[in-house]
Amino acid sequence: MTAPYFSLSQGHLQLLSVCPPQFQRRYWEQLGGLLEPQRQVKTEWGQNFHQLVQQWTLGLPLETLAAQSLDPQDVSLLDSLKNLIATVPALHLPPGQRQAEHQRTLARDDVLLTVVYDLLVLTPEQGEIFDWKTYPQPAKPEKLHHHWQTKLYLYVLAETSSYSPEQLSMTYWFVQSPEKIQHYTITYNEAQHRATERELTDLLQQFRQGLAAWHRHRTPLAHRHNCNRCPYHDQFFPPD
Ligand code: SF4
Repeated sequence: MTAPYFSLSQGHLQLLSVCPPQFQRRYWEQLGGLLEPQRQVKTEWGQNFHQLVQQWTLGLPLETLAAQSLDPQDVSLLDSLKNLIATVPALHLPPGQRQAEHQRTLARDDVLLTVVYDLLVLTPEQGEIFDWKTYPQPAKPEKLHHHWQTKLYLYVLAETSSYSPEQLSMTYWFVQSPEKIQHYTITYNEAQHRATERELTDLLQQFRQGLAAWHRHRTPLAHRHNCNRCPYHDQFFPPD
C-alpha cells in the first residue's frame, strides 16, 4: 500500500517552527478558530489584491478592472495595483518571461512541499522570486531571512531548477506603503541552501514523529525549547 502524502506549505512550516502547540491545534485538531474581524478584513484585502494582480498579468486592462470595482475597498486595491505596476519593471516583461501565481512542488519522502510564487522571472542568468506583501515593511526586514517563506521558496526553486543558489533571489514588495512602495531583496548562496536543507530535515522529522505520537496516544506536541513567553503556554500544556 502506498504511504499517504502530506502537503506542507511555508505557512505550515513557519507555525510548526515557532509554536508547535498552535500548529497541532490548527491543523491536527482543526480548532483554528475564526479570525478577529479586523484581521479578517486585512486577509480579504490581501487575497483580493493578489487576485487583481493575477488578472492584470493575464491581460485584463486596468480600465476593465476599474469598471468592476464597486466599493471603496476596491478603490484602494486599484490604487495599490497601479502603484505596483508603476514600480516593478518585471511586471512589464512579456508574459512568456514572467509567470504569475506559479506553483511548484517538491517531494521529500512522504511530504510534498508546495510553494506558490506571486511572480517568477527566469532568465538564462538568474531566477527571481517576487512576493507582494500587504502589510507595511517591518522595522527589521532582515528578520525575513529567517522566515520559512523565504527559506522554502528559495530552497524549492534551487531544487527544482538548474540554477545554482547564487543565481537566485527573492524580493518582497510592500504594496500598501503610504508613499513609495518599499522592497527588500534577499540573495541566496550554497551555504544558506545547505543550512535550510538541515533545518528542513529536522523540522520534517519533528513533524513525522509528532504526528505518529499524536495518532498513537494523542500525545501533544511539546512547546518550543525555552519558550514560555505567551499566555497560551498553560492553556496548551496545563501544569500538573
Ligand atoms: S510558549 Fe506559547 S508561543 Fe511558545 S511554544 Fe508554547 S504556546 Fe507556542
